[in-house]
Amino acid sequence: MAERMLQFVRLPQQTPDKRAVPERRADFDEIYEDFDTPRATAQASRCSQCGVPFCQVHCPLSNNIPDWLKLTAEGRLEEAYEVSSATNNMPEICGRICPQDRLCEGNCVIEKGFESVTIGAVERYITDTAFEKGWVKPVKPRQERAESVAIIGAGPAGLAAAEMLRRQGYQVHVYDRYDRVGGLLIYGIPGFKLEKEIVIRRWKLLEEGGVVFHLGADIGGAVSFAELRAGHDAVLIATGVYKPRDIGGIGANLEGVVPALDYLTVSNRQNLGDAVPLFDSGALNAQGKHVVVIGGGDTAMDCVRTAVRQGAASVKCLYRRDKANMPGSMREVKNAEEEGVEFVWLAAPEAFLGDTHVTAVRAARMHLGLPDASGRQSVEPIAGGHFTLQADLVIKALGFDPEDLPQAFGEADLTVTRWGTLKVDNRTFMTGLPGVFAAGDIVRGASLVVWAIKDGRDAASQIHAFLQQNATVSVAAE
Ligand code: FAD
Ligand code: SF4
Ligand code: SF4
Repeated sequence: MAERMLQFVRLPQQTPDKRAVPERRADFDEIYEDFDTPRATAQASRCSQCGVPFCQVHCPLSNNIPDWLKLTAEGRLEEAYEVSSATNNMPEICGRICPQDRLCEGNCVIEKGFESVTIGAVERYITDTAFEKGWVKPVKPRQERAESVAIIGAGPAGLAAAEMLRRQGYQVHVYDRYDRVGGLLIYGIPGFKLEKEIVIRRWKLLEEGGVVFHLGADIGGAVSFAELRAGHDAVLIATGVYKPRDIGGIGANLEGVVPALDYLTVSNRQNLGDAVPLFDSGALNAQGKHVVVIGGGDTAMDCVRTAVRQGAASVKCLYRRDKANMPGSMREVKNAEEEGVEFVWLAAPEAFLGDTHVTAVRAARMHLGLPDASGRQSVEPIAGGHFTLQADLVIKALGFDPEDLPQAFGEADLTVTRWGTLKVDNRTFMTGLPGVFAAGDIVRGASLVVWAIKDGRDAASQIHAFLQQNATVSVAAE
């Protein structure tokens, strides 16, 4: 091992090449090129095979990173894929969109002065290769079980749970109000971070494995929750969080001031080839417009970069703190800057100007004050520091809250936390309703894909335990 691994002292870090800026500004394809085999092998060999691998500790799925890096360095890719897929239902997706700088790679302990191992890119390479070689197979349960489980929500939490339950042989039915599978993977996250074929490939694989999808099924709307629950032995709620945090003030209701997810969903649909009147009419299309995006998270980064690709006349991102205090991934901020987005730091909107349609944003200059109770520096306006930015389209990307599910589902016993997320027992993932479980953003609040996968897997194992226990109780009662 010693000669093959520990190559970080000799080999510099190499991330996958990025496509040239003019080329990537013109389409919605992924910006990173694939790793080729020599580069993936060489980069994997930089790992020093730590006895206590901090990369693994800081991966929400506790992926066995050192083992699959070593297998990749040795060219044993099929085994690397087996190890990688044992703990992750979508390694090729996490490899692309996990904020690795804050998770595995950010905690890689290669000595100071050497850059971390490129864990995400190797993870992506392993599973992309596995798909190419035909090693990725649909689920084949060893035995079929009669019990059925309903999963509400076909996002990463619901899909991970569906796969794990199907492996156990349950009859798994996934219900989603959308017409496609993937949740935010399909309609939130843009193609330049995650191409849609990658999500659709997982959808088709689950279908081939026997998971039944019921699309266009709005639970709590056309189909009542009680009806759904009565038809299944257990239910998992994995509905995500979709209520946009709003911004009030003068002109907030003007035409052209729009929520981020409406804008991104329309763009994703348009790229998927759907007829989208709101895009064609120009209402949710940045072409030729001066665009101002408000917010500093990953959703704001996705909006600015989408606007660039739609041919906006100018794209500015207004954020009330500075770059160092931005919640968005630094990798995405850098990509946005390269693509021509202008960041206006320490600035907050005060009013949206215009008669019926927005024409400008009036903003206040801010400065960072003393830390508050949470330890984060407060933000205060600078007296007299006002300025105006021209804007035909203003996109609000201020985060998301949960919808009122107890009301929508007509279930008062579905209790919520003070943030409106569903309350579950931490160990069992069960809500206040027996046999009803919950996972993903609807429990955690807006989070990450990798956490949704982890929660979906854990909830599935708790559902399995619950159904087994119930089966034992009914046999004993007979
Ligand atoms: P979702 O993915 O939201 O899926 C929930 C599903 O439930 C949806 O399909 C919805 O249609 C369905 N649903 C909701 N209510 C009902 C109902 N009543 N009946 C039927 N179906 C219903 N995370 C990362 O790790 N990396 C990123 O780069 C990243 N970028 C992001 C960019 C954007 C713009 C956004 C908004 C989020 C991003 N995230 C990112 C966060 C990540 O997408 C979420 O944390 C993750 O998708 C949550 O998974 P989930 O399964 O809990 O919910
Ligand atoms: Fe890193 Fe995410 Fe992969 Fe874990 S799942 S190893 S955090 S990229
Ligand atoms: Fe390898 Fe870095 Fe993980 Fe150590 S922390 S095992 S060097 S990837």
